[in-house]
Amino acid sequence: MSKKPTNEEHCSFCGRPASQAGMLLAGLNGYICQNCVDQARKIFNEENQQTHNPKFEIQSSDIPKPTEIKTFLDQYVIGQDTVKQVLSVAVYNHYKRLKYNQEHGDKNDVEIEKSNIVMVGETGTGKTLLARTIARLLKVPFCIADATTLTEAGYVGDDVENVLVRLLQAADYDVAACERGIVFIDEIDKIARKSENTSITRDVSGEGVQQALLKLLEGALVSVPPEGGRKHPEQKLITINTRNILFICGGAFDGIERAIASRLNSNVIGFKGDETRAELDRDNMLQYVQPMDLKKFGLIPELVGRFPVLTALQPLDREALRRILTEPKNALVKQYQELFRMDDVTLDIPGETLDLVVDRAVKYHLGARGLRSIMEGIMTDLMFDLPSLAKGSTFTLTPDIATTKLKL
Ligand code: ADP
Repeated sequence: MSKKPTNEEHCSFCGRPASQAGMLLAGLNGYICQNCVDQARKIFNEENQQTHNPKFEIQSSDIPKPTEIKTFLDQYVIGQDTVKQVLSVAVYNHYKRLKYNQEHGDKNDVEIEKSNIVMVGETGTGKTLLARTIARLLKVPFCIADATTLTEAGYVGDDVENVLVRLLQAADYDVAACERGIVFIDEIDKIARKSENTSITRDVSGEGVQQALLKLLEGALVSVPPEGGRKHPEQKLITINTRNILFICGGAFDGIERAIASRLNSNVIGFKGDETRAELDRDNMLQYVQPMDLKKFGLIPELVGRFPVLTALQPLDREALRRILTEPKNALVKQYQELFRMDDVTLDIPGETLDLVVDRAVKYHLGARGLRSIMEGIMTDLMFDLPSLAKGSTFTLTPDIATTKLKL
């Protein structure tokens, strides 16, 4: 559309002739000069900043206290008090840091740094559930990414930067809101390199992804294609500053207990440890996890250094599993009872049946994850017959019925 204007042509916005304004872009009925394009862009940017999505605006009254966050988490997640406390404080501080930056701009004397978190815990102990529950309560954009799908740019899979695209989408494409968001990365242990020795050959599955992730964690300006996918030269890119984005990671770190145990043992021998060998809780070594164990597991030291908060989930014991069946707001038993109620049948599950389900879950070593599949195993068949049951009746799921269904 641009054309070499003759000297009579003027910018239709500022009125300067082409001889002064330089190149003019031609529209249907006029021209615009470079200067006016720049001015217009500034106005649009300012306007966009002012009209960002009110959904993500933080008022002081919106900032939940750590105790309130924990109480909210308690409604959905059983046990895991330490982790709940750590997360509550982290979220609270995240809000406070955002508010501080908002008030002080670049002139802040004290730079409050973010505290990214790693949660270590066996599978099915509630890591993802905690992240999802936090998301329900947040006033900042939140997304969950799976580290197993991430690859270094240029390989088949999701570029690490696409994590930000998801956050941007969660923020309804409001860049300012996205830059205040929280990202949960699940299965972070799966990008560990396979041995502690750095290999001279490239490790596609691990180290490259860790390096790419490190860039996001360090607070960089990252350009992402708004629709996700691969970047290509002609594509419009959006720049996101990751400085204030909080990263929470979760992973099972299978086998890390060995690293913890060997570290603790050598400490005891050298009289450096606080714990003596006799005091160690051998069944729950994860609680002693330290950053150096993550390094031993295969996370690069720079990445470990970017996660100042490291916390461990407790393995779920029988009592916790039993509570998970009935207590959370959306407990499995409550869900089935609701399904039955819709067919006008009352579902009664006696304690002995719940014990039986818990026994199975313990046997399968799948944490609370096993509970759902066991309950499904029992209930699917029953629900097939459910619509034929008499309206207004009560169905009691006895241990005998449950056992028969499980054997099928
Ligand atoms: P992971 O630790 O592997 O991320 P999840 O959070 O995905 O485990 O847990 C799987 C399922 O088990 C959840 O959807 C939830 O129903 C149940 N669950 C796990 N831990 C808890 C817990 N502490 N309290 C309540 N439910 C739980």
